[in-house]
Amino acid sequence: MTPPRIALIAHDRKKDDMVALAREFRDFLAGCRLCATGTTGSRLQREAGLPVEALMSGPLGGDLQIGARLAEGGVDAVIFLRDPMTPQPHEPDINALVRACDVHDIPCATNLASARLLLRQLQRQG
Ligand code: PGA
Repeated sequence: MTPPRIALIAHDRKKDDMVALAREFRDFLAGCRLCATGTTGSRLQREAGLPVEALMSGPLGGDLQIGARLAEGGVDAVIFLRDPMTPQPHEPDINALVRACDVHDIPCATNLASARLLLRQLQRQG
């Protein structure tokens, strides 16, 4: 079976959670093809030791890059730890990415609990 292609994005106040999640699922994620928005990606490389393709930073277009890749069939699942308490300058990009997930029926976990469920299920399928 081909390794799942997973996109990872975390807003600033959720980045510690993303690193902790990645450490928790490190063995599984190490066998996946990972891409991420810029800052999330470099933290995952540095702090979880995972090979991650880091795209542009979210506010500079990284969410849109992931959305475009997804629309072309290049992403199997998205983990998007959003900060529901802080307005984001790139809100339209965030909405576009979540919409692209719905249009293309790609699972998108937007909080830790759903991210764990999604990763456990992907793990089971492998
Ligand atoms: P970042 O982008 O990983 O580059 O911080 C995430 C975001 O804010 O969308």
